[in-house]
Amino acid sequence: MTGRRDELAANLAQVRERIDRAAARAGRQPDEVNLVVVTKYFPASDVDLLIGLGVRHIGENKDQEASAKVADLTRRDDVTVHFIGQLQSNKVAHVASYADVVQSVDRPKVVRALQRAAEHRGRELDVLVQVALDGSDGRGGAAPQDVEALADLVGDCPSLRLRGVMAVAPRDGDPRPAFGRLRTVAHGIQAGHPGASWISAGMSGDLEDAVLEGATHLRVGTAILGSRPPLG
Ligand SMILES: *Cc1c(COP(=O)(O)O)cnc(C)c1O
Repeated sequence: MTGRRDELAANLAQVRERIDRAAARAGRQPDEVNLVVVTKYFPASDVDLLIGLGVRHIGENKDQEASAKVADLTRRDDVTVHFIGQLQSNKVAHVASYADVVQSVDRPKVVRALQRAAEHRGRELDVLVQVALDGSDGRGGAAPQDVEALADLVGDCPSLRLRGVMAVAPRDGDPRPAFGRLRTVAHGIQAGHPGASWISAGMSGDLEDAVLEGATHLRVGTAILGSRPPLG
């Protein structure tokens, strides 16, 4: 296990250095940028090691895998669990049982189901509205013109706290202008929702672009945990 711990520590240091450099270029403080380590396909033992290395946010994108893993953590309360995967409405209630933040809210049906589930459990959930930056590639998210109405709907839910927006860069092309569009959408909803200040953008390959465009949360998997096993 020491081998794995050293490997994760080295990768984390490298990613933190990339964040520091990008923040310096952007004239931002590195601590304005939260690192969410995406641990999908990797075991709870890796998450335990990451928590030991100072990681305080993890991201998961599959309901079943995430709930089992979170239940196995030795220091569950030391980490904020972000659900970042596409949400099927029949899974929403279950996600609300272990996630602290749901980043992938992209339609009214999911908002209503989350509100019901959170209320039922007597808890509050942080919510980001996922924005589709390229309408055609099926990575989830609401069309930019629908985001404001969706944000208002979340804002009206007593058990949900609207925190901001999330997006995945389009598969093709330069991520930077796409993240710039996300920033514009984020500012648009901040006018009516001052607490919605989070911008979740940027992954292993494009985190610098996201930092330059104002991201407050990065979702980094491969650069820290290594390549994921193929989908099976
Ligand atoms: C897997 C995943 C990531 C992490 O991607 P990497 O390229 O491994 O850093 C980020 N965001 C979402 C929504 C993901 O599903």
